[in-house]
Amino acid sequence: MIRVGVNGYGTIGKRVADAVDSQPDMELVGVAKTQPNFEAHTAVERGYDMYAAIPDRAPLFAEAGVEIAGVVDELVADADIIVDCTPSGIGAENKSLYESHDTPAIFQGGEDADVAEVSFNARANFDECVGADYARVVSCNTTGLSRVIAPLEEAYGVEKVRATLVRRGGDPAQNSRGPINDILPNPIEIPSHHGPDVQTIFPNLDIDTLGLKVPATLMHVHSLNVTLESDVTAAHVRQLLEDEGRVYVIPEGLGIDGAGKLKDFALDAGRPRGDLWENCVWGESIAVEGRDMYLFQAIHQESDVIPENVDAVRAMMDAADKAESMARTDEHVGIGI
Ligand code: NAD
Repeated sequence: MIRVGVNGYGTIGKRVADAVDSQPDMELVGVAKTQPNFEAHTAVERGYDMYAAIPDRAPLFAEAGVEIAGVVDELVADADIIVDCTPSGIGAENKSLYESHDTPAIFQGGEDADVAEVSFNARANFDECVGADYARVVSCNTTGLSRVIAPLEEAYGVEKVRATLVRRGGDPAQNSRGPINDILPNPIEIPSHHGPDVQTIFPNLDIDTLGLKVPATLMHVHSLNVTLESDVTAAHVRQLLEDEGRVYVIPEGLGIDGAGKLKDFALDAGRPRGDLWENCVWGESIAVEGRDMYLFQAIHQESDVIPENVDAVRAMMDAADKAESMARTDEHVGIGI
């Protein structure tokens, strides 16, 4: 059993905790939170041991009726590995805590790449993470791009990637984010910083990215153009993507014409929190002109990195190979169902 602790229990942390808890070869030691808000109450109801992330605030938990098992130092000492799901920049500050206990740690995509020795995407570079002490699971957008680029690279070779990322303004609970009624080139500079992040996974990849932000909370949508090194057909690309466990090719005829219906589909199917862990590629959008391949995909920013965190745990602990780990993660999280 790999004993996993989760530090930071927000959008990503609560999903990582559930995914770890579902794995037969992992035990969730507990979760650390800064404050006893509604998420703390539901975590305890789920049976998760709660640790105070800021020791001085421990009494606040008791006052709020949330029983704690200890403070974050104890969680880090007790766990074999920590998944740090704190806000951007806090993960790097926490690194000395993990080092002081010799506890390996996984950071999230909001941290700079140099927080860890390796940036991780299960499909693209699982083996580079084996035995690492510190790894960074790349952002939701980089994860979504990597899952498509890896099979295209293996099957056909990739000459150049151009991606326009239409990004949600904030997550559903982030009521201070925006825009509320605007369409922002964001960042305005071209190319955007997303391409270099993808290069932390594919160092030799030629990629240019552009970003926009829109008044939506549901998902990101990518418009992707990949110039391949060999001639292909759209049907072949489609089959290639349909064979990928973490890519869902939306069939024609379902009437799913946007992110809103995708989320409804996930909720109707009983997915926890309406999560869509897979890239959602519109089958009809897959087109090939010469060696240029085009497609639209939707990326659920709150959940696509969750299976990657579970696989990063196994890679770092050298507990399974890539195929075994991804299959086990998918089965127990419920991917592809
Ligand atoms: P969030 O704000 O929803 O959750 C972060 C949690 O950490 C909050 O509960 C906060 O109270 C807590 N926290 C703050 N300081 C802490 C500390 N010192 N110790 C312990 N906990 C602390 O943030 P999030 O969206 O879950 O993002 C977490 C990380 O995941 C970031 O690096 C982010 O860039 C990355 N990420 C986010 C998304 C997304 O769309 N939400 C997608 C992929 C990656």
